[in-house]
This record gives sequence, structure tokens and C-alpha cells, in this order.
Amino acid sequence: PSTTPVPKVVLITGASSGIGEATARRLAAAGHHVVLGARRAGRLALLAKEIEAQSGSALAHELDVTDPASVAAFVRAAHDRYGHLDVLVNNAGVMPLSRLDALRVDEWNQMIDVNLRGVLHGIAAVLPIMNAQGSGHIVNISSVSGLRVDPTAAVYAATKHAVRALSEGLRQESRDVRVTVISPGLTRSELTASIADGTVRDAVEGQMDIAIPAAAIGEAVLFAISQPAEVDVNELVVRPTAQG
Ligand code: NDP
Repeated sequence: PSTTPVPKVVLITGASSGIGEATARRLAAAGHHVVLGARRAGRLALLAKEIEAQSGSALAHELDVTDPASVAAFVRAAHDRYGHLDVLVNNAGVMPLSRLDALRVDEWNQMIDVNLRGVLHGIAAVLPIMNAQGSGHIVNISSVSGLRVDPTAAVYAATKHAVRALSEGLRQESRDVRVTVISPGLTRSELTASIADGTVRDAVEGQMDIAIPAAAIGEAVLFAISQPAEVDVNELVVRPTAQG
């Protein structure tokens, strides 16, 4: 017999634009409670309002994933509101691409802080709760740059390879908590705005005509979290048909 899916409490980091925002809209439309985190609190509040106007359920909470205390407060706010947590989508990310010999050391550190440490902070905040519940699901957004390396993307690719590695380690150590890595290809979002090097930004933006909508990644997240508890979708790679 078919059963109505139970709504899940889904925390999404980086929900103020792009893939995080599209994922929040898609999951809310599917009936899930979404908890929206990012630094731009005004955008989150507007998104939460829009979702609720469409009969969805959303909670907005300012979040800086580079700060463990901020991540802990984000998770606590969700847990206080709903009493349990089902899914954390570690999506927040930045991509200030440049050649290594440009020595943009601050940008390297920013990518490590957001893309890698941010994911670890998320895991640290939810894992004790999910282990105590005996259930949970951590979805980490990597990239095709987690599978390959391109010029100007050495540090970005290093962070995204690291996200895949730590996800695999977490998966192996988990009995009850599911772990999914989603690796998008070129996807329409605000990500290229973080590229300060104008030449590199123009080159990347020149490839974006084939980019897929962020909603395509939201659909992949929905697929992964909609499986039965004993089924863990370990990894999905979703890229434009035309991407080489
Ligand atoms: P966007 O720039 O549109 O979204 C990035 C999100 O991350 C924003 O909501 C931003 O919110 C948030 N963010 C950045 N820094 C922080 C921080 N310190 N704390 C909390 N939130 C933060 O880009 P995308 O939607 O494309 O990026 C989402 C993820 O998808 C990233 O991990 C990216 O690497 C990955 N990805 C994207 C691809 C693409 O082609 N677009 C391809 C492969 C992977 P705010 O500034 O308000 O904090």
C-alpha cells in the first residue's frame, strides 16, 4: 500500500541564493519543513515568507558556517522548534578561482574555511543529535571539481575533493545516519560573483550558457532524501548534458 511521506525537518546552509535557495523551494513544495541558513538574513526572511505564502513551512536563521558557534546556534534553533532533525544539506560554498601563482592566500583560506571547515562544523553540530535519534541524513554538496582538477581551480578542487573524502569516511563510520554527496556541474547561481580575478571570472562566465538551473540540483536532493531509511544514495553527479 502507498503511504504519504512524512515531512522531514531539513536544514540547508547557503539558502540565500542559487542551489540552496532552489533546494529550499523544491523541498518545501514537497511538504518538508526547511530551515534556511546564510549570512544575508534579509534574503532568507524574504524566502521564508514566500515559502509560507505558498503553504510551505520555513524557518530562517542567520548563519556563518565558518563559525562553529554560529552553526551550533543554527542547529539548536531548528531542534528547539521541531524537536528533531532529519536532514542537513551542507551547501554553503564560495569559489574565488585564480591561478596559484597569483598568491591570493586570503581567498584560499576563505575556500577552506567555508567549503571544508563549514561542512565539518555542520557535521559536528548535527551528528550527536542524529546519533542519539538513531536516524538522520547528511547531504554534502561537492562539485565536479571534487572529481577533476582544472587550471585556476586547484584550491577549490582541493576543498571539493576533501568534501567527498570526508563524506565517504563519515558514511563508513555511520550505522544509522545516511550520507549523500551531490556533485553538480555548471549550474546557474551567484557563485561566479565570488571570483575577484576578472579574467578568470569572464572565462568561467563564458561557459555558463550551458549551465543547468539550480532547481535540477534541488531535485537531486529531494530524490536522495525520499528513499527508504535503509537506502543510502551515496553519490550523485548532475551536470549539463553539453558539459565536457
Ligand atoms: P551561490 O553563490 O548562489 O550560493 C552560495 C551560498 O553560500 C549563498 O547562499 C551564500 O549565502 C552561502 N555562503 C557563502 N559563504 C557563507 C558563509 N560563510 N556562511 C553561510 N553561508 C555562506 O552559489 P551556488 O548555489 O552555486 O553554490 C552552492 C554550492 O554548490 C557551493 O558549495 C558550490 O561550491 C556548489 N557548486 C556549485 C556549482 C555551480 O556551477 N553553481 C557547481 C558545483 C558545485 P550568504 O552570502 O548570504 O552567506
